[in-house]
Amino acid sequence: PSESRKPGLMGRLFGRGGSEAPVMRRTLDDDMLESLEELLISADMGVDTALRVTANMAEGRYGRKLSVPEIKELLSREVARIMEPVAKPLPLYPTKPQVVLVVGVNGSGKTTTIGKLASQFKAAGKHVVIAAGDTFRAAAVEQLQVWGDRAGVPVLTAPEGSDPASLAFDAMTKAQAEGADLLMIDTAGRLQNRQDLMEELAKIVRVIRKKDPEAPHNTLLVLDATTGQNALNQVETFQKLADVTGLVMTKLDGTAKGGVLVALADKFGLPIHAIGVGEQIDDLAPFDPEEFAAALTG
Ligand code: GDP
Repeated sequence: PSESRKPGLMGRLFGRGGSEAPVMRRTLDDDMLESLEELLISADMGVDTALRVTANMAEGRYGRKLSVPEIKELLSREVARIMEPVAKPLPLYPTKPQVVLVVGVNGSGKTTTIGKLASQFKAAGKHVVIAAGDTFRAAAVEQLQVWGDRAGVPVLTAPEGSDPASLAFDAMTKAQAEGADLLMIDTAGRLQNRQDLMEELAKIVRVIRKKDPEAPHNTLLVLDATTGQNALNQVETFQKLADVTGLVMTKLDGTAKGGVLVALADKFGLPIHAIGVGEQIDDLAPFDPEEFAAALTG
């Protein structure tokens, strides 16, 4: 849906309508490759990934004269090649409940994403329970309740400042008793005190494992695509705090260039389970590598 709104990379490199100028041919030489590199870096792809992409583009083609659409196609194919292995919906298991721990910094879109996911699973006939594990922020709990109401999914809460692990344990007990398919547990995103957060997350995991040694079955890291390269640091940080199994990239409807997704895929190879494309309940889409590559390149 964002395709028409964002200027594609090729448009920026060759000017408006560049991709519609099939007669214009460019030599794939050092100058051309350098311009491409700069373009990819400016789109948040990061230096390493940008270099890898342009090197792959040049392989076997260096010095050739290519039309703009050919260059575009080449770039698009390289991007899609990196993205294809990570485009995976959240795997669903027969385990009841499948426990999904949701982590990420405040403001990344955790609450919204939980609401959207709950709505999708509910629509698919799943029995979903949400635990409002960010007990330090009363506003976060209220907001999650709003989303739960919208999705028609119960949200378990605890008084402000109470132990999130104890809430998670209660939620596990409830979800098991009800035979729920999915339990989504929100968590705090206070990176200011990493040690605290690490202990808090570890305790949640320890406690839910008393009920199911395999839990959590997924640990979703929610990342705001508009933070650009900062998203890479967040992955590194959260991998130290929790056993991250997959990503949701939010705010791809905005001004985010999206190149950071390529850097993330290239560097970490973590599955991208879904992308946030707006603030409404239905604004969560599966990640489509071809569409993404075409939109980024276009
Ligand atoms: P949390 O602090 O991580 O729980 O973040 P929230 O879920 O409260 O989201 C923070 C802000 O980002 C809110 O204003 C959301 O409406 C907005 N938001 C979340 N996901 C998206 C998205 O995919 N697109 C857009 N445009 N805004 C989003």
